[in-house]
Formats: sequence, C-alpha cells, structure tokens
Amino acid sequence: MSALPVIPASRPLGQSGLKTSALGWGMWRLVDSGLDAAAVDRLARTVLDAGITLFDTADIYGFDGSGGFGAAEAVLGEVLAADAGLRDRIVLATKGGIRPPAPYDQSVKYLNEAIDASLRRLQTDRIDLWQVHRPDILTHPQELARTLDDAVASGKVRSLGVSNFTCSQIDALQHFLGHKLVATQPEVSVLRTDCVENGELDQAMKGGLTVLAWSPLGGGRIAAPENPHEKAVAAALDLVANAQGISRTVAALSWLMAHPAGIVPIVGSQKPERVVEAMAAQSVQWTRQQWYAVFVAARGEALP
Ligand code: NAP
Repeated sequence: MSALPVIPASRPLGQSGLKTSALGWGMWRLVDSGLDAAAVDRLARTVLDAGITLFDTADIYGFDGSGGFGAAEAVLGEVLAADAGLRDRIVLATKGGIRPPAPYDQSVKYLNEAIDASLRRLQTDRIDLWQVHRPDILTHPQELARTLDDAVASGKVRSLGVSNFTCSQIDALQHFLGHKLVATQPEVSVLRTDCVENGELDQAMKGGLTVLAWSPLGGGRIAAPENPHEKAVAAALDLVANAQGISRTVAALSWLMAHPAGIVPIVGSQKPERVVEAMAAQSVQWTRQQWYAVFVAARGEALP
C-alpha cells in the first residue's frame, strides 16, 4: 500500500523568510487555565524543547476572563521580557481586528493602535506573523492592505496572515497588498473538514500560504466524542491509532498534516505532557486508503 510522504520537522512560513515547526502551539486557553508568568515560562520552555517554535496568540485572548482584552499577550510578554534569548527562539504570531462589542474594526486608526498595543503587551519590537483575526466586512480591502503594508514597512510586523477569511476575501486582500500573505488560519480538523473541499487549501497551495489549523482536535471533542458523527470519526481514527500504537489525538493531528498543503496544527492544550505527545504526529505514516477512510467518516458520506 503506498505511504504518504514523511512530514518535514520544519518548513518555510510562506515567503516570510521565517521557518515554522511542523506543529504550532496556541494560547487561546492560556489565561483560562489560570497559569501565572512562572508557569507560562515553564510551559513555553517545554513547548520549545519539544520542538515547537510557532507560538500563536491574539490580542482578544483573555477577553472573557478576569484579565480582559490583552491578558494572554501580556502574560507571554512578561515571560519574554525576563529572557531576551527566549524571544529569539520563537516565531511569534498574534492577531487583531476583533474589537468587542463592534465586533470587528479594521479601520486604519484602530488597527495601528491595536498593533502598537500588542507590541507593548508582548514587550517586543516585532511581531513575526500578524494575522487579521476575522474579516471586518465594513473595511475595504484596499484600506486594510494599506495599513498592513505600512505595518511591515515600519518593521513592527515581519509578515502577514489572515484567519477565518473566505477564498474571495483572501483574493481581494491580496489583490491590494504589496506584500504576499504568508499564512491563513482556518478552523480545520477531522470534525471540521470544509476547507478540504471548498477551495481554501487549494488556494493556499497555489499562493504558497502556510495553513495554520485552529482547533485541530475540534476543541478537544476528538478525545471525548459526544454525538454519533464524532463517535464514528473517533472509531475510524482508532483503527489507525491502534495499528500504530499512538493515541487517537496524535492520529487526528497527523491526519491533518498528511494533507499536501502542509497543514501546521496549532496545538491548543496547556498541559505540557499533551503538547509533548502531540509532536509524535510528525512520525505517523498514513497510507492513502487509511487517510481516505478517515475522510469518509469525517464527511459522513462516501466519496464519489
Ligand atoms: P484543540 O487542540 O482542538 O483543543 C484543545 C482542547 O482540547 C484543550 O481544552 C485541551 O485541554 C483539550 N484536550 C482534551 N484532551 C486532549 C488531548 N488528549 N490532547 C490535547 N488536548 C486535549 O485546540 P484549541 O485550543 O481549540 O485551538 C488551538 C489554537 O488555535 C488556540 O490556542 C488558538 O491559538 C487557535 N485558535 C484560533 C482561532 C481563530 O479564530 N483564529 C479560534 C480558536 C483557536 P487541556 O488544555 O486540558 O489539555
């Protein structure tokens, strides 16, 4: 049975000149998990030592908790400020453009302020990857492009990405941008496979965008499936997991990574042992037949 290619441990982050590890680590749940700066420092070092260099945060992370807007960036900033060497080991990705209760604001004035505020909270002079968190329908893509190009020209941002954009929204923004987008961040997992068939992954491959997968374990539902569909997907993954002596969650991450778009799952766990375990996904080998069997379970119907 033909095996799919082995996953490289690191890859270019689009055309940014930066490299990313095969998996990233996300800090959406960082503040909720109640970790202080000392614990975040330990966790960040464990993540790095495991081989994950891409750290994904956002200015909105923490908004619903006691720390409020900016809390996740701020705690990471404390950690980075305490050790300049740490900052250089990380490809630092953040996002902005969500402004409760608007809910979105990508006007020139607000985005410039938001980028400066992220830099202050992160206690750094540059963001490696700045991503538009969700599209603001009320900002013309030409206006957004100008703001983003200026942010790169100023040196505050090294490269640009989008998240939760449709294919045509990506096209429209790229049309006006002087710089090439280097990344797109859709929600994609075995429980959310829309972008496998709606053109997003094809567009990313065509344009050389790195695909960063948010909620690659369906927010944890792959580990604890609830409804019949989730249970069927879990059973399909278990066949491969049991055959290869890996966990279902590692199988789920590696299924994403086997796609030729070179998907980089953003691991969302804040537990060191789970982040370390996720790295095993790099060495899982899929055959075409195994991969498609999971895909059929994920779509809930046979392929034509
Ligand atoms: P996920 O990996 O799908 O889910 C992580 C959750 O699953 C955590 O609550 C984790 O709990 C739980 N979990 C249960 N069993 C697990 C196991 N065996 N292994 C690992 N995790 C297990 O990812 P996510 O947190 O939903 O999202 C990942 C990242 O994507 C975020 O941190 C953020 O950077 C990004 N994101 C982006 C957007 C966007 O709009 N761009 C939206 C959402 C997320 P424990 O922590 O207890 O392990």
